[in-house]
Formats: sequence, structure tokens, C-alpha cells
Amino acid sequence: MNPQSEPSAPPARESAPDIRRRWTLFFGYVLCFPPLLQLLFGAGQFSGSDWLNWGLSLLFRVLLVSLFFLCLPRKNVVAGWAVMILCSLTAGLFVLPDLYLLVNFGALLDGETLRLMAIAPASEIRGFLRLFFCRWNTLVLLLLFPAAGGLIFRVKKHKILWGALGALTAAVLLLLSFTPGRGRTARQPSPGERLEAFFAERRAAALRLDVAEAGLRAKARNSDREALYILVIGESHSRRRSSLYGCARDTTPGLKKLFEAGKLHRFDDAVSPHVMTLLALPVMLTLAEAAEPKTAFRHKANIPDLFRNAGFKVWYAYNQFPDSENELPFLAVAKRSDVFLSLHKERFDGVFVDVLDKILRDPAPRKLVIFHLRGAHWAYRENFPPEVRFFTGKAPGLSPEQARHAEIVDDYDNALRYTDGVLTRLIERAAAEKKNAFLLYLPDHGEALYEEEAFVGHTDLFPTAASCEIPMMLWLSEKYARPAIRSELPEAVKRPFSSEDLPHLLMELAGLESPCFRPERSILNQAYEKRPRRISTRAVPYDSMKNKSVPTAGR
Ligand SMILES: [Zn+2]
Repeated sequence: MNPQSEPSAPPARESAPDIRRRWTLFFGYVLCFPPLLQLLFGAGQFSGSDWLNWGLSLLFRVLLVSLFFLCLPRKNVVAGWAVMILCSLTAGLFVLPDLYLLVNFGALLDGETLRLMAIAPASEIRGFLRLFFCRWNTLVLLLLFPAAGGLIFRVKKHKILWGALGALTAAVLLLLSFTPGRGRTARQPSPGERLEAFFAERRAAALRLDVAEAGLRAKARNSDREALYILVIGESHSRRRSSLYGCARDTTPGLKKLFEAGKLHRFDDAVSPHVMTLLALPVMLTLAEAAEPKTAFRHKANIPDLFRNAGFKVWYAYNQFPDSENELPFLAVAKRSDVFLSLHKERFDGVFVDVLDKILRDPAPRKLVIFHLRGAHWAYRENFPPEVRFFTGKAPGLSPEQARHAEIVDDYDNALRYTDGVLTRLIERAAAEKKNAFLLYLPDHGEALYEEEAFVGHTDLFPTAASCEIPMMLWLSEKYARPAIRSELPEAVKRPFSSEDLPHLLMELAGLESPCFRPERSILNQAYEKRPRRISTRAVPYDSMKNKSVPTAGR
């Protein structure tokens, strides 16, 4: 790496301007490579604003490099090094995550991802590292990218440009050879969005106020004498890995048994419009639509307020990280409930059974209970107690890609089986009450388990069919108050559903009368109208994803 060690070079020290030029080239390469690479990947799908944001991002990087060049003193080498290290660290904050996201998801770092990076607890980070960095291509890329830039230092004076071009070509060829993100693009974030995550604090109070105002305006009535209505929101629950939906491995034995006994209704065509908790929950919990801007939910009627206004006592118990609406704005909606319980210090979802037992002892005649599980989020093996691990070894019917990651699939399946136990126990407890009751379960989104493009996990940047298809099921007690719904269910379970219509489904199930209710959006209503379902902030038509067979990239 050191030009002094070139055997053919004269022993003279390289001059300060030469060092400066080389480092500026290296630094320029490191900073400008990801946006240039993004052009190669997905410029074809750029919209006008994407181009603007992309141009601004490049300009910002070029300015940084220029600043670096100007600040580097000609004589004071120590100060020069200090500036270099500082600039490189700053650049590294963006460059490595950018590259990582680019090759895996075809996107650069945006506000949402930054926010998640800032708040993720240790277990999620461990899970993330385990899922993604065990892939050799990511590791190789992150090592080779700066190493390729280092070639700049191997060529002599006057050949710097050739060195830089060589490094760039080597890195591009390398990337193109194994990039699953190729051909996919997500929205280009604006530079402002990258900073947004760090200035969210002061907006939380305004958010709470908006949500409360919209909630108080939401009129609703209900004439049930007594009611125990339970909504359970799961996490990263794959329909394809659920035996209730035909997976060869029995990951949901309790629910399957209830279904086969005719006690559980299984919805066969449900999807989530977003593939991240942060984006899915606002449209599930409020009347906001997925096609609207992501802040629209704060001005819409929400489920807790609708039910409270109709005379229900509402609980929202939450077992994810952390419980601040600065980071997770949908929590401002959740906290509109009469009782908000943050259980995020509990490791496992079994705690919800105890919480339900306590709620059942509450004297309120009409109850809406919302449980938001930890479910099957990565790190999968941290979602269930080790002693209940059930599946070991290779699952039946795995694809070659899944078989290569059989241990991760095992962990995931065990997490699903644990969730199945929790749901079954919740239904048992509710049934024992012998009241007018229902329990509706659906997760925020699905999860990809190497079904296509060697992809595991979930992200709105890279929606796949497996990560947006969700299981959804409904249990009704014997005394459930609306028999007409029972007769509609055999048709309803076949209708295409998007979880942005959850409030209407819930209002219909609970017999809530409200001007907000739209029968054409309720899957249980004969007036239900099919609409095209679009997934993620890119609004990819679900029908185009559903049956798409994507060749496994890079293998
Ligand atoms: Zn989620």
C-alpha cells in the first residue's frame, strides 16, 4: 500500500501534494461509488424526484471530497491525517450501510432504516447480523470495496487515474456478479430524510396532539351488553411456513386442530400493504390508506378511539422495542387506549396469557383487547424459550436455498410454533369466559425464508410475495352476538384482503356503527369491493408479485 515500498521507485519521499492527491482520489472513490453503482442498478426506474435526490446526494459527496482536498494542509502532515480520518469516518457512516442496502435491496439508506438502526435493541441487531452477514457475498463486498480503492496506492505517479479506473472496474464487475439487489430499486431518499431521524424528538408532542384530535372526532356506537373482543397482531408471520396453510412441517398444530374442528375461520388471501412494522401498523390501526403519505395516519380516526367512543374499555399490550412514539409513531395511536402496557422487557410472548387473565378480571362490560406480539421477528431463536425448541434438523420440502440455511429455517419454525401455543392458549382463555367474544389474529406482515432471490427477512425496500402474504384467522365464541356474520364467513374467507382495511373488518365484527365505516371495505360485508392491492412505498401490484418466479440470483 505504501508507495515508498515500490521496488522501482526512487528512494525519495513522496511529496505532500502527491499524498494529498492520492488520498483525495481514494476518498472520492469511496464516497461516490455507491451512488454511481445505483445508477447501474436501477436508473431505469427512477422518477423525477428520484433523479433530483440522487443528484443532490452526489453533489453532497462531491462537496465533501472538495472540502477534504482544500482542508488538507500542504505541509502539516499530522493535521492532514487528522482531517482524513475524520472525513473517512463521516463518510463511512453512510457508505458502508449504503453499499450493504444497495446490494441486498437495491436501495440506499433512508430515514426509516436510519431510525430503525438507531433504536434497534441488541437482540434485533444480533439477528440481523446473523441473517445477513453470514452471507459470503456481503462480507466479500464490504471488504473488497475499500480494498479495490486501495489499488490507487499501488500505482505510481501519473498512473493514478488508471489505478482508480482499474479499481472501479474491478469493484463493479465483482458486484454485478453476485448482487440480488440488481434490477430492483427503491425510492431514492433525499438528503433531508437521512437527517430526519435525528430530529424526530420535538415532533412527538405534535404527533400525539394530532392523533388525539382525530380520535376524539371519530363517532361510533355499539349496543352490545357485554363483549370480549380481542385483536392479536403478530410479527413477521409467514403464511407459507404455517401448517394451517399447508406447510409440511407442523408449525401451527394448535390452530390447525381448531380449524379442522370447525372452530377457527382461516382467511386464504390476505396481504399486508407494507413490509415493515413501522409502516404497516399506522395503516392497520387507523383509517389511513397505504397509498397516502406515511404521515396521513395522524389525522385519521383510529381503532382505540373508535372503540372507546363507542363505550368500550380498550387495552393495548405491546411486546416489542421500545415504547416511544419518537421512534415508532404508531405508538401514539396505541397509547390512545385506556390502558397501554409495554411488555418489551419480557422476553417471550407467553406473558400475554397472564395479561389476558388480568384483563378478564376487570369489571368493564365491553372490552377491546389489542395484543401486539414479538412473534417471529429476527433474531428468530430469541423469541421462544430454548426448552420448547421442537424442530431440529432439516425440515421436509425445503428448497435447495432453504436447505443451505436449514438452521435458520429451524429457528424460524420454532418461533412460529411458540406463537401457535400462545394463540391457542389465548383462545382457550377467551372460550372459558362463555361470553360474546371473538379473537382475530393477523401479523403486521409476512417473512421471506429464502423463497426467492436467496432473500430472508422483510423490508419495504424489497417486498416479496412471501413477506407480504399473511395468515389471518378468526375465532368466534358460541355466544358471539352477530350470527349473520357466520353465514357470510364461508365467502368472506376467500375474498382478497389487505390489512389496511382492518378497521372496517373490526368494526363489522364488533357491530360498531360509525360514519367512518365503509361496507365496501369490509371483507365480511356483501357490499365488499375488490381493489388492486399494492405493496410497499413503491406500490408494487401484488398480483404481479404473487406468481412471479424469480431466478435465484448470484448462485
Ligand atoms: Zn414487523
